[in-house]
Amino acid sequence: MAVDETVDPKRASKRPLAKAGLQSEALLWPTRKSVFEDEVESLEDALGLTTLQKAVAWAQTNSMWPDTFGLACCAIEMMAIVSSRHDIARFGMERFSSSPRQADLLIVSGRVVHKMAAPLRQVYDQMLEPKWVIAMGACASSGGMFNNYTVLQGVDKIVPVDMHVPGCPPRPEALMEGILRLHEKVMAGVPPAYQIRGVAS
Ligand code: SF4
Repeated sequence: MAVDETVDPKRASKRPLAKAGLQSEALLWPTRKSVFEDEVESLEDALGLTTLQKAVAWAQTNSMWPDTFGLACCAIEMMAIVSSRHDIARFGMERFSSSPRQADLLIVSGRVVHKMAAPLRQVYDQMLEPKWVIAMGACASSGGMFNNYTVLQGVDKIVPVDMHVPGCPPRPEALMEGILRLHEKVMAGVPPAYQIRGVAS
């Protein structure tokens, strides 16, 4: 809403709705503050205002259930994030799922041989949207030291990856860092990788 410059700026509320341009009552009754404005200000004091998009993102990041795909040594480090020392439960993520239909974060930890590529893709396909993928470690991200005919040279060749966690192996703290960075992306409104890449899910 356009702000009328004839309204006395000293009377304008410093609260969020006034900043957004809610000064219609002041325009109708320019000589004094209306009861309506008082009520809106007291409401703003009592309520937390947000957008539906931010509320949904907040819920998604605080209940992101991982589906583990542990394939090699990196998986041991991944398992450690549920321990009391690292405590992934702080972020509502302690429920590691063995069912892709009840998970929305696929953590690929370890090297993916070609034989495992099809099952991995099947698990990804069975996950409901929205869903995210973390490639944990050098092997999942690029094949690592296994530059040979048996190992897939990066899991992003078969599923869209949202976050790569470097290391061989990455420590649990590094995986936690990757998870928190992913949360930041979701909160910032960045869509999942499959939407950005236009990959059929
Ligand atoms: S990145 Fe290193 S620790 Fe992880 S699976 Fe490969 S060789 Fe093992």
